[in-house]
Amino acid sequence: MKMKFKQVCTEILNLLHISTKNNNLVILICINSITTALIPFVNLYFAMLILDSVFAKYFRQSLVYAFVMILLVFILNCMSKYTDQCLAAKYRFCTNLVEYETVHKSFTLEYEEFDKTDTIEKLHYLDDGINGAGDIGIQLKDITHLLQYCFSSLFSLIFIIFLFFQVESNPSNFFTSQISTLFMILLFICLIVFIFKMQNISSSKTNQMHRENISVNSKSSYIFMLLLDLKHSMDIRLSKLSNLIFNYYDGYKDKSLPMYTQWGTILGKYNSYSTLLIEMYAGISYIFVGAKAFYGLISIGSVLMYTGAINQLITTFQQTVSTYSKISYRFEYLKLHSDFIKTTPKHDLGILPIEKSDDFHYEFECKNVSFKYPGSSDYVLENVTLKFDIGKRHAIVGKNGAGKTTLIKLLCRLYEPTSGQILLNGVDIRNYDFNQYVRIFSIVFQDYQLFSFPIDENIAAHENTDAITIRKILNDVHILDRINELPKGIYTSLNKDNTDGVILSGGQLQKISIARALYKNAPFIILDEPTAALDPVSESEVYTEFNGLVEGKTSIFISHRMSSCIFCDKIFVFDHGKLIDEGNHTELLKSSSIYSSLWHAQSQHYAKTN
Ligand code: ADP
Repeated sequence: MKMKFKQVCTEILNLLHISTKNNNLVILICINSITTALIPFVNLYFAMLILDSVFAKYFRQSLVYAFVMILLVFILNCMSKYTDQCLAAKYRFCTNLVEYETVHKSFTLEYEEFDKTDTIEKLHYLDDGINGAGDIGIQLKDITHLLQYCFSSLFSLIFIIFLFFQVESNPSNFFTSQISTLFMILLFICLIVFIFKMQNISSSKTNQMHRENISVNSKSSYIFMLLLDLKHSMDIRLSKLSNLIFNYYDGYKDKSLPMYTQWGTILGKYNSYSTLLIEMYAGISYIFVGAKAFYGLISIGSVLMYTGAINQLITTFQQTVSTYSKISYRFEYLKLHSDFIKTTPKHDLGILPIEKSDDFHYEFECKNVSFKYPGSSDYVLENVTLKFDIGKRHAIVGKNGAGKTTLIKLLCRLYEPTSGQILLNGVDIRNYDFNQYVRIFSIVFQDYQLFSFPIDENIAAHENTDAITIRKILNDVHILDRINELPKGIYTSLNKDNTDGVILSGGQLQKISIARALYKNAPFIILDEPTAALDPVSESEVYTEFNGLVEGKTSIFISHRMSSCIFCDKIFVFDHGKLIDEGNHTELLKSSSIYSSLWHAQSQHYAKTN
C-alpha cells in the first residue's frame, strides 16, 4: 500500500487544492517556509562577516553587520511567527472543510452501503484519516515543514558549493586539493543513502504498527463513547455492566501499551544509528573546513559559516526524510478520502422525475422480489409478488423475522432487491430520481430516531417550521397538552446531551415521531410497529385518529397488535420471507391458518387476562 513519490506529490497538490478553497493557504505556506528556513543562514552569513571584520579590526563595520543581522532576523522571525499563527487557524479550517465534504458525501451514499463491513471499515479509516493517524491539520503542517526543509537544504547547498571551490591551483596537500572535495562529496552521498535507508526501515516498521493499532483504537473509542452516552448509562448502572466494559477497555489498553513501547524502541534504535553517523560526518567536515582555514584558503569567519551550513544540511536532510515518510503514510488514509469523494452513488443513476399527482395516484407493485442482506447468503424475502392498491389501507403481518420490515426497506429504496422488481406506476423504482422518490413516503419505523433538537424541528425536519400545523398534529396524536406544559412549548429541545432539553417517555417520543410522519403529509404512509411503546389507551387513540388522517392515502401498517388489521382493506401474511396469504380480516380468518393462529393467540391472551 506504500505510495510512490509521484503519487505522494499528486496527493500533496490535491490536498493543497482542496484546502486552498476560500483561503490563501499556499501563499502563507510559502512565506512561512522561506522565512523560517532563511533565519539560520542570515545568522551564519552575518556571523562570518562580523568575525572577519573583528579579526581585521574593522570594529565599526562589525557593529553595522551586527545591527543589520539583528534587524533582518527580527523581521524574518516576525514573518515566520505571524504566518505560523495564521496557518494554525487555516489548518483547523481545512480539517473542517474536508470533514464537511466527507459527511456530506456519506449522506449521498445509499443506506445499503452502510450495511457493508467494507464501507464501515472504510469510514473508520476515513475518520482516522481526517482526525487520527492521518490528521489533515498535522498533514498540512508537515507539508509546510517539508517545504521549509527543502528551502533550508537549498540554501545550505548554495553556501557549501562555494566551500568546495576553495582549492589551490597547485595543491600542496590533501586538504587544499580537489580530491578532498571529492572525498567529502562522496562521503556525503553515502551518508544520505544510509540515512534514507534507516528512516525507510524505521518508518515502515512504525507505520505497520500504526495500522495494526487502528482496530484497537476504534474499539476503545467505542467503549469510551458508551461511557458518555446517556442512552446506555441506565443499563450499564442497573445491570452492572461496567465491569464487563472496563474489562474490554483494559484488554485494549493491554494490547496497545506494549505496541507503544516497541514503537519507541524502534524509533530510538534507528535514530541513534543515524545520529551517530551524522556526528561522525560533522566531525570530519569540521576537520576539512578547519584545515582549509589553516592553509589560508578561507577566513575564520567562513569556518563558522561553512560548518554551520554543513550541519544545517545534514540535519534538514534527516528531517526531510522522516517528514516525507510521515506524509506519505498519512496519504494512505487521506487517499481513501479522495476516492470516497469521487464515488458515484447508485441512486444518482435514477433520473426519472416523479409526476406530481393530486389524486395520489401512486401504485406500487412487487414482482418476484427476492432479497439477501449484504454479506449474507440467506434469502430474507423470496419471490414476493403483491400490489398495494391506491388509497387503501394495508397491513403486513407475520412472526418476528418474517421479513416485513425488510420489504418496507426495499420499497423505500434503502436496499435494492437481489432479484425481481418493484414498480411504481409500472416503472422500476430504480429509474426514479431518488430525492423525489422518497418524498412520496411518510414513514415511522419501530426504531425511529428523534434528535436532541427542538421538538418543532424534529417534526418538520427543518429549521423553518409551521407552528400552527405542528400544534394541530400534536393535538391529533394526543400529546399537545403535555408539550404545552414544557418551558418553551413546541420549541423545547429533546434530551440533555446537546442542549438543556427535556426527557420524555418512550410513548410520548413515539407520538412525536408519528407527528413527524403526519407533518410530511406524503401520499403513502407506512407505520412499522409505531405503537409498541404506547399504552393501550394511547394506542387505540392513535389508530382511531390515523383512520381519519390516512383517508384517501395509501397506507401500510405493520403491527403485532392484530386488532389494527380489522380496519385494513388488504392484509398480507408473511412467513419465513414468503407471502403466504392475502385478503381482508374476515377472509383470512377463514382461509389462512397462520393469520388465524396469530389472531387467536392474541385474542385468547386478552380473553384470559380479562
Ligand atoms: P420482521 O420485520 O418481520 O420482524 P425483518 O424484516 O426485520 O423481520 O428481518 C427479517 C430477517 O432479516 C431476520 O432474520 C433478521 O435477522 C434479518 N436482518 C434484518 N436486518 C438485517 C441486516 N441489516 N443484515 C442482515 N440481516 C438482517
